Amino acid sequence: MEELYRNIAEKEPIIHAFLSLAQKDELLAEAKGQEHTDLQGLPIAIKDNICTREFPTTCASRLLTDYRSPYEATAVARLKAAGAQVQGKTNLDEFAMGSSTENSAFGPTRNPWDPARVPGGSSGGSAAAVAAGEALAALGSDTGGSVRQPAALCGVVGLRPTYGLVSRYGLVAFASSLDIIGPITRSVRDAALMLSLIAGYDPRDSTSLRLPSQDYLRELQPNLAGLRLGLPREYRPKELGPQALALVDRWCAEAESLGAQIQEISLPLTEYALPAYYLIASAEASANLARYDGVRYTLRAPAPEVGEMIAQSRTLGFGPEVKRRIALGTFALSAGYYDQYYAKAQKVRTLIAQEFAKAFEEVQLILGPTSPTPAFRLGEKADPLSMYLSDLFTIPSALAGLPAISIPGGAVDGLPFGLQLIGPRLSEKLLLSAAWALEEALSTR
Ligand code: GLN
Repeated sequence: MEELYRNIAEKEPIIHAFLSLAQKDELLAEAKGQEHTDLQGLPIAIKDNICTREFPTTCASRLLTDYRSPYEATAVARLKAAGAQVQGKTNLDEFAMGSSTENSAFGPTRNPWDPARVPGGSSGGSAAAVAAGEALAALGSDTGGSVRQPAALCGVVGLRPTYGLVSRYGLVAFASSLDIIGPITRSVRDAALMLSLIAGYDPRDSTSLRLPSQDYLRELQPNLAGLRLGLPREYRPKELGPQALALVDRWCAEAESLGAQIQEISLPLTEYALPAYYLIASAEASANLARYDGVRYTLRAPAPEVGEMIAQSRTLGFGPEVKRRIALGTFALSAGYYDQYYAKAQKVRTLIAQEFAKAFEEVQLILGPTSPTPAFRLGEKADPLSMYLSDLFTIPSALAGLPAISIPGGAVDGLPFGLQLIGPRLSEKLLLSAAWALEEALSTR
């Protein structure tokens, strides 16, 4: 606790990872007198689109500036049951829409490796807090890459679990068929511990998988022997540049020296994942965000008439990226365009899931970079499309509901570059074991 708060005092004025933060003394006082549990007295940072009773849950939106949830997310309740304390709420792109944390209504988070650069997003606050030594571990949410991409850009570990493995109860909905909570940690073992605590069936989430909780840490082995790892051609385009391509080669060489076999594979539908995702995620977002009408939640614009009040509240409350998604999603769902866009995107999504399933008949896991580039500069990606492209390698597996992990893979231009492993549904044990083996072999921590 002393070390975390020393780091916070020194770095947080620059990094701005937290939107709210507990006092050290409060946490210390609470930590005393607890039973012995896995996370006894340990503070955990929580992305600010995950409901907690301790602090407001703002989703980094002006609209929810003062919103306090009357209940807490299942994942948070489970961490607390294991002895953890909510350390604070971390910054994000508004409603988790973005890849840089610049879309926060409360100012951006900066990358601890270089404060001129972004931490990635949308869970940028969680990743930066862990990377800066301001937090031991954090929860993020991943719709199309928001746990893995910031973990990659900050040089920490980020795990997206199988869709439905962790309850979405208390996670503010962005795109419900894609959203999942995942841990951001300093090590693969910490990610396994966090997953053990937050995963498992929850009757309060209708898409929660009916599976008992499991101990992912106990059977964990740093082991790659005998595994066939697929290296998709599409995840290794020339545009990555010589340094990143050399790193990918190094990962393959390390994996082979640990007894794995590398097999070139092809996932030709990769190029359709991004457009399908932006139609599906935006369509779902436009429906989910309809609830922010100025009636029930905080921000309400003064207006003489209710329709005008709703319109003005939304106009004032939402930032430009959120408005863009709502407009795109509403358009994609509108009469006459539904079949052309939304229904078509759903078909593409099914084909992408089938393409992965076929690949997993040949290989056990898929290996590649998490993101095409290391951390970029604040303001560098002003054009929304160039921002969307930083999720090129994380979106396909999200559409297919697959688990995937990003671990530090080395440096490109002196900045962290993430290695991603993708597995079949519910392959978390295998995924974590392989990730641990590579983490040790690369020893980039
Ligand atoms: N960057 C992607 C988006 O903007 C993914 C975000 C996420 O996973 N929450 O939609």
